[in-house]
Amino acid sequence: MVQRLSHQPLYMSTNMTFSTEDTIAAVATPPGVGGVAIVRLSGPDALAIASAIFHGPRPERPWAPRPRILHFGQLRDPRDGTQIDEGLLVWMPAPHSYTGETVVELHTHGAPFVVRRVMEAVLSQGARAAEAGEMTLRAFLHGRIDLAQAEAVADLIAATSDAALRQALGHLAGQLSDQVRTARLAVLRALTPIDATIDFPEEEVPPPDRGDLLTSVDQAAAIIATLLAGAEHGRVVREGWRCAIVGRPNVGKSSLLNALLRMDRAIVTPIAGTTRDTIEEVALLGGVACHLIDTAGIAPTDDTVERIGVARSRVALESADCALIVLDRAAELRAEDRAVLAEVAALQHLTEGQIPMPHALLILNKADLEQSIKDADLAAALALTGSTPAKGLVLAAPPITLAAATGAGLADLEAVVAQVALGGSDTGSAPLVTRARHRDALRRAAEALAQTRATLDAGMPLDLAAEDLRDALHALGTITGESITEDLLTSIFSEFCIGK
Ligand code: GDP
Repeated sequence: MVQRLSHQPLYMSTNMTFSTEDTIAAVATPPGVGGVAIVRLSGPDALAIASAIFHGPRPERPWAPRPRILHFGQLRDPRDGTQIDEGLLVWMPAPHSYTGETVVELHTHGAPFVVRRVMEAVLSQGARAAEAGEMTLRAFLHGRIDLAQAEAVADLIAATSDAALRQALGHLAGQLSDQVRTARLAVLRALTPIDATIDFPEEEVPPPDRGDLLTSVDQAAAIIATLLAGAEHGRVVREGWRCAIVGRPNVGKSSLLNALLRMDRAIVTPIAGTTRDTIEEVALLGGVACHLIDTAGIAPTDDTVERIGVARSRVALESADCALIVLDRAAELRAEDRAVLAEVAALQHLTEGQIPMPHALLILNKADLEQSIKDADLAAALALTGSTPAKGLVLAAPPITLAAATGAGLADLEAVVAQVALGGSDTGSAPLVTRARHRDALRRAAEALAQTRATLDAGMPLDLAAEDLRDALHALGTITGESITEDLLTSIFSEFCIGK
């Protein structure tokens, strides 16, 4: 029997451990009944522990594992010899495995009771139950992947669109990390000669050329600026686009939601903190995972229940990336319609950024019926929705005429969504910054480099510039993991699922 090797508790502890000396185990497949379940072991004793449980198909024949070969056999509880299941074992010796350690996977029938017994058996042999994300953490700690690549694993698992998947795969392959590292090297090219003059002043190291320093600083700043320019679209690729469908009653909001959902339904993943009271469904429109929120309407009302609905709709609208404003093209424009347009316009004029948010798309529904809405009324309403003409509604695209009932025109809406949500950016080959953590770090680096440039331009002492360069270096290092604290690691990996 293999002795328990670690001093860690057998079951989940609350704190992430950064030791890689013990052997960890986790169920790598989702909970519930399925065809196959996999218990994964990683660490120095993975094979010894698994071998105490796994036996060849014929007990009389000795069993010798071979690397990266699937072996068929029996799983038995080492404590009493009873058979738990029959299944497969695969052994991946270090360092050629997901974690960079020796990994053994036991494939059993996908029966929750079997899986529990296998886990109990491996824990009885000295394995420790892995924390969420601990397998990937180990891959990072062993230097097999960097931090941005580790985060890409979580993004890949959560991807709900082709664009999200392509970005996750690109990040996993190191495309984002390469850019960040190139920027880091440029910062180092500026910092190293300054540090040399600070560290060895008596050795008469010649002061670095300010022009050379500026070139390196600008090279780093340019890479960072390009990455930041795509960050908003990257966020949309990873998190999806929140679209609030707004309009007065009976214009066809629910019909539009249903029509869009019938077209293409995205995979809905449970993301913490996204439980909302309004109906929220995810549809893939133009390759963008659109979180469509059917609002109850935002017109003032005296009815208490309706008032709650209106308040919720407002909240949905305020947090939306886009307002899909639906009008009934087969009816004249009403005061309630104007109120909806005004509400969205008012929100847009609260935004401080360059692009008015939420984006507004105007949908003229019921195109299968004769047009009754007057173009002049509409134009006037759009320009005059705010208190002054300058405060009119800003549409992200020309109005889209469609019929939710027949599906006519939905493809136009899709194309517009792709254009507005992703800004025509290339979500395929170029790496996009998709995580807020990376964007914030890049912003800090950009600020530090701007400060460096100002210091150099003003002819101030070089050690002042060195301080800012170090800040930039540190900020970039938090993305790929060169400069990282345990707290940050814990918070990043706790987002992962168990077994990954
Ligand atoms: P909501 O109150 O804004 O959610 O509107 P609904 O989706 O419930 O639609 C109100 C009415 O308009 C229903 O009777 C729908 O069948 C009808 N409707 C919705 N879209 C269309 C359309 O494109 N063409 C026609 N002719 N009727 C539609």
